[in-house]
This record gives sequence, structure tokens and C-alpha cells, in this order.
Amino acid sequence: MAILNHVITQLQTIYPPERISLVRSILAQHARDQSAHEAHLPDAVVWPLTTEEVSATLRVANEARVPVTPWGAGTSIEGNPIPVRGGVVLDLSRMDRILAIHDRDFQVTVQPGTLYKDMNKILARHGLFFAPDPGANASIGGMLANNAAGIRTVKYGATRDNVLALEVVLADGRVIHTGSRSVKQSSGYDLTHLFVGSEGTLGVITEATLKLAPIPAHISAAVAAFPTVADAAETVFDIIGAGLEPSALELLDATAIRVLNTDPNIDFPEKPTLFMEFSASNEAALAESMALVRDICQEHDALSFDSGVGRQERARLWHARHHLFETHVRYFAGQDFLVGDASVPISNYPALIARTAELMRQMGMTGSLLGHAGDGNIHTIIFYPPDDAAARERAMAFNDAFVSLALTLEGTSTGEHGVGLGKQKFMAKEHGPALEVMRQLKRTLDPNGILNPGKVLADS
Ligand SMILES: Cc1cc2nc3c(=O)[nH]c(=O)nc-3n(C[C@H](O)[C@H](O)[C@H](O)COP(=O)(O)OP(=O)(O)OC[C@H]3O[C@@H](n4cnc5c(N)ncnc54)[C@H](O)[C@@H]3O)c2cc1C
Repeated sequence: MAILNHVITQLQTIYPPERISLVRSILAQHARDQSAHEAHLPDAVVWPLTTEEVSATLRVANEARVPVTPWGAGTSIEGNPIPVRGGVVLDLSRMDRILAIHDRDFQVTVQPGTLYKDMNKILARHGLFFAPDPGANASIGGMLANNAAGIRTVKYGATRDNVLALEVVLADGRVIHTGSRSVKQSSGYDLTHLFVGSEGTLGVITEATLKLAPIPAHISAAVAAFPTVADAAETVFDIIGAGLEPSALELLDATAIRVLNTDPNIDFPEKPTLFMEFSASNEAALAESMALVRDICQEHDALSFDSGVGRQERARLWHARHHLFETHVRYFAGQDFLVGDASVPISNYPALIARTAELMRQMGMTGSLLGHAGDGNIHTIIFYPPDDAAARERAMAFNDAFVSLALTLEGTSTGEHGVGLGKQKFMAKEHGPALEVMRQLKRTLDPNGILNPGKVLADS
């Protein structure tokens, strides 16, 4: 406690009173993310404005061995930013400036607290956008740290595929720059991509140069319903296998559609459904792709195929899809929930979907199966009564079986939400001896274990 008080006193010399807080209500806002993982209060929250302030904070905390947990927008769903060992939360939300738009290179350089939806509104004026598209309005720092992905990943890749250079503050306060603005890079070890996906456990990202994409000229969407989730999943495999490059390809089971239909603007048949979007530089190419997609859907007994969805309707569709998590929470109001996230190679996707749907049925789970099908990713959202330890155990047992299934199918325990707290138990099975190399990296970069301790590696 004396050490912590000493650190807080030193932080008070770095931050003016309005950018450091020990107030319980503020600490509580930084105690949990959007998951059901247990909340933990930090001891202090600070809001840096500059890299120098981040560096000074880490120097002080590292000398005293006090935990520091970076915080973006707090929208994680695997417990990633919960300060489980207390200490200081480094809230980067006020480092939110766009530093440079390199429009001729399709790049942008930003501070980590920049919210990606706000950034995309500004970039739209330049005809550009940052493609990784998680549902929530996440910060760029949080997206980098979790290697977030979303409905556009099938065409444009995850956050990891769209970053060129970083500024990172190490645990001891040193500031380093990784990568460059060149899209081709072959110089030295790839430190940029080491920090991406490290969930704030190896360093604090204070600046990032990202790749952008031009906003496509011609876009078309289609919605197709199928008799079973297995039919929908087979269709996904065939669409990708045909070399069609959807810019979004989402699978929703019948329960997810029922929940979606609570939106007064949406009314789909309650059947397993694919939401698809295709883009091209001209109308003819787009029409050709849509005709092929229709054929593939019909080969898989599609019950309906609605293409040429207009601009306004398309916006409504994606808005509803993006808010489906919150809509589920409202639909199953008062229930606790567990969100699953796993990913497999696309050839194994139909097996993952069919077997997960069967597992849900066999284990009596209430909830939905939905996901970014085009890149082999699926989520489960399982609801169970609160304060019911047995029901929670059953939900956890289902999640374990679901993740184990994905690993058996040559996949991964998390396609996009990260390890956080919930996926640590699968790390040994998934990574084998490589896990020890990860531990060595952690010890090298953060020997005192101050950066977001208790995350990614259970024993960090
Ligand atoms: C409704 C909803 C829908 C979602 N949909 C998706 C989806 O489709 N795809 C997806 O991938 N995720 C999704 N998510 C999860 C979440 O939005 C992403 O994981 C997102 O990247 C988290 O960003 P954040 O800014 O909220 O980060 P936080 O939750 O604040 O932090 C995330 C992690 O990053 C670390 N961190 C934050 N900033 C920095 C920094 N500057 N330097 C180093 N470490 C840092 C934190 O310590 C933590 O470990 C969804 C969440 C919700 C609530």
C-alpha cells in the first residue's frame, strides 16, 4: 500500500488534477469491459495526452512494480482490459488526434484513442476508409492490441493486416518506433506485428500508421435463407471456393434472426440466413458476381434469395447486424451471457457450424450462432439465468466443447476477441512449446510483469 501511495504521489506530479482520478465511480467505469467477467477496481486512472506522459507513467510504475493496464474504449468481450491486479489504468481515450492523412499513399497516422468510426467519417471525405470493422466503436489502440476484425475482414483482412508502423512505449518507459510507411518491409524482426494482438501486455501503443482502402464505387448486397445452418455453411465454403470476393459474408442462425426481427425495420424469415455484400469497380462485374452467388445459393436449396438490396436498406441491414450483440442482451434481458469466438480454415467451416449447432442442441443451450462466416469465424452467444451456478457451469462446459472442436478442426480458440481472461485455459493446447517462447518474450519486454498482468498468459 505504501508503494502504491508513493506511485500515486509521483503520478500527481505528472498529471494535473483533472487527468488523474482516485474517485470510486471513475474507478468503477474502468473495472469491467462488455463481458460477463468479474469486475476489478484499479487504484487510480490517468489520462495521458502525450507519449512523454505515457513514458513517465510507465517509468514510475515499473520502478515500483505497480501494474499498469492500458484502456481504449473498454468494449472488449474477453476481459482484456480488466485491471485484475489493481494498480493504474492508463486511459488513452484523450490521445485521439488524427496526426496525418497520407491520402496519396492510402494511409493515416493516428493516436491510439482515436475511435475508428469517427476516424472513418473523416476519412470518407477523402474517399477512403479503414476496413477492419468490429461492431463496437472501438479505439484504434484497442483494435491493434486485440487484433480486432469484423464483417469486412473477409476482403480486407484483420487489423494486423492493415498496420504499417507503430510508436510503442515499453514497460520501462523507453519509446520505440517499429515498421515504416513503406508497404513492403523486410528489415529485421517484425516488431510491429508482435505488438499487434498482445493485448497491452508487451507495450503501450501511442501512435499507429494504418493502411486504408478506397471506398468502392459499386456495391450490392444479398440476403439468402436456408433450411439448415449446415446448408448455409456449405454455401459459404462454395462462395469463397469459387473465388468470389465478398466484402462481407455473415451467417446468422434462426434464433439470431428472431432476435434481429425485434428491430421494427427488419423482417426476415426465421431461418438460417446469409448476409452478403459484394463490391466492384463496375456494374457489369458486380452483376456477374451476383448471378454466380444466386446459383450457388440455389444449389444449396436456398429458401429465398433477395439481391439488389438498395443503399438505404443495406445501411439498415448492416446497422442491425452491428448492433446484434446489444439486441441479444435486450432480448434476453436479465440473463447472464457467455460469448464464444472461434475460427477454423474455411474448408472445415461447414463441419464446425454443423457440429456446434448439434452441441448447442444436445447440451440444451439457449442462444445464437452467428459470425463472420467468410473468414471461418463463428460466435456463440449463450444466455443462462443469473445466480445459477449450475447453469453457468453448463454454459462454460459448452464453450469448452465448442473451442475444443475448433482446435480439432485445425482452428484457433479466438478469431478476433483475443485471449483476455477467458481463453487462457486453451493456450497450452493451442500453442504447445511455443507458449514458453511467448513467456520468454514477455519476460524480456516486461521483466517486472507490470503490463496488464494476468492476461494472455495465465501466470504473467
Ligand atoms: C457490440 C460489440 C460488438 C463487437 N464486435 C466485434 C467484432 O466484430 N470484432 C472484434 O474483433 N471485436 C468485436 N468486439 C470487441 C471489441 O470491440 C474489440 O475487441 C475492440 O478491439 C476493443 O477495443 P477497445 O478500444 O474497446 O479496447 P479495450 O477494450 O479498452 O482494450 C482492449 C485491449 O487492448 C489493450 N489496449 C487498449 N489500448 C491500448 C494501447 N494503446 N496500447 C496497448 N494496449 C492497449 C487493453 O489493455 C486491452 O487488453 C465487439 C464488442 C462489442 C461490445
